[in-house]
Amino acid sequence: MKFGSLTFQPQKPSGFDFHVFRVKPETGLRLQPQQDMHSNLAVFADTQTAKDHPEWISQSPLGPAKFGNNNFNIYWSVLCPTQPDYREEQLKYIAEVDRQSQGIWLNSQYFADHSHCTCPRCQHLYQKSGLSWLEWRRKIVTEYVTEIRAIVKKDLVLSLQPDPVSSLERYGVDFNDFAKYTDQFNVVMFSKNYATPWYWEMLTRAFKKLLKKPFYISLYVYGPGDAPQDVPTPTELLTVTTRCARAGADTGFLYLTDGEKEMTAFQRAALEKTELRERLKTYGGKPVEEFLNWVKNWDQTLS
Ligand SMILES: [Zn+2]
Repeated sequence: MKFGSLTFQPQKPSGFDFHVFRVKPETGLRLQPQQDMHSNLAVFADTQTAKDHPEWISQSPLGPAKFGNNNFNIYWSVLCPTQPDYREEQLKYIAEVDRQSQGIWLNSQYFADHSHCTCPRCQHLYQKSGLSWLEWRRKIVTEYVTEIRAIVKKDLVLSLQPDPVSSLERYGVDFNDFAKYTDQFNVVMFSKNYATPWYWEMLTRAFKKLLKKPFYISLYVYGPGDAPQDVPTPTELLTVTTRCARAGADTGFLYLTDGEKEMTAFQRAALEKTELRERLKTYGGKPVEEFLNWVKNWDQTLS
């Protein structure tokens, strides 16, 4: 098992096997890739580009993929995935980021959500294809992932939304198509609390059953602009990681924080939970043991 940090800042927190830097978050901000970190990029979620090119925003019968459209869980703007200029530009950008870092972790490499995109170009392409609506969307997403695979020389990791059942209908994502091109998956299980670990454990079991490539799970520790009372407690994070590990998440985990400071605070708090960590040991299985040993080692690795 490997344990990674996923951060909005380019500093590397201590005590992790690898580091993923969010070089292009959904805001569309582009930061300098780091030679000794992997790079995480949101592809079609890009609020900045949507401001510059509002005509590129993904459309649907329930309105555009824009923050404020509460028909969808959208906290940023998402672009239409058939816009040719943007697709081309992103391929060049991804190739350049790959060259300047340790590899590519993508998210948002798919449609905004169900019933997207119905812009005139997508309607035209769909009608011309002769495919069903869902098959056409799948083809658009898979073909783009194929193009990305061809230009990424290092590791390529594709993220998945934590929806094991309806990803095809919602995002045009077929897990088996992706498995042909990705080195690993990253199942993003972000939440501002993990008060009921049973649900995350259930999702882990579902992905374990479905995915034909190893998968990481990303968990939310402390995002940009959060206050301490907004985020999951160390107890919740230790417990939910243990429960997911027990349910078969044996590739590894990533913890998301704004930067190094927030990660270190979490790690110190986790170390203090000796009684809880003793109890979690009894949950059983090698992945649980590996996870808890990794946490224990922070005692040595934290500066
Ligand atoms: Zn479109």
